[in-house]
Amino acid sequence: MAGQFDEARAKASKVLGESVVKELAGKGYEAEYVASKEEALAAVLKLIPSGASVGVPGTVTIREIGAMEKLAERGCKIYQHWNPSLTPAERGQVLADENAADYFLTSSNAITRDGKLVNIDGNGNRVSGMAWGRSPIIYVIGINKVTANLDEAISRARGAAIPNVLRLNGSTPCSQAGHCVDCNSPARICNALLIMERAAGGRKSHVIIVGENLGF
Ligand code: SF4
Repeated sequence: MAGQFDEARAKASKVLGESVVKELAGKGYEAEYVASKEEALAAVLKLIPSGASVGVPGTVTIREIGAMEKLAERGCKIYQHWNPSLTPAERGQVLADENAADYFLTSSNAITRDGKLVNIDGNGNRVSGMAWGRSPIIYVIGINKVTANLDEAISRARGAAIPNVLRLNGSTPCSQAGHCVDCNSPARICNALLIMERAAGGRKSHVIIVGENLGF
């Protein structure tokens, strides 16, 4: 029967999500658990005022919760380089603008149960925006990205590269094999690895853990 075990799944997600939130709070983050992507969107809209500028790097999760449309409706200026019509020069400028906006809105490739954020990046723009920036940073992270430890988190982050390569119709060894082979391909999109052991200093960092599967 459809949905027969959904309640048990939701309870398990809540227990795990709230436990991660507690760990994050001890590492300098503002953190909260929400059950659904609709609640995640509401939480994001509560944190970002109308008219603010928002930098959104490469993230499927933020798009999946419908934040791009809602922020635009509220008069927010969104900087995002996922726009195929940008020239290389325009794209370079937008990458810089993302990191200089009033808010930096992103997800994370993985988060350990004890609250460490792990991300792998091709250009390095997303991980640099996470490690350093003047503006508040907001992470939205699906419960599917919680891992037991750092090794699992790094492995998960590399695995996330595969659907991203396929999304872009790219060709890397992993897009053929279905798993990472630590390639030396010119198309490799895993060039920078960032582990945030605690919230970055000098800015507000807010994490929303969502009790649904989101992103890659
Ligand atoms: S095979 Fe290359 S591009 Fe694919 S996940 Fe591994 S390092 Fe990244």
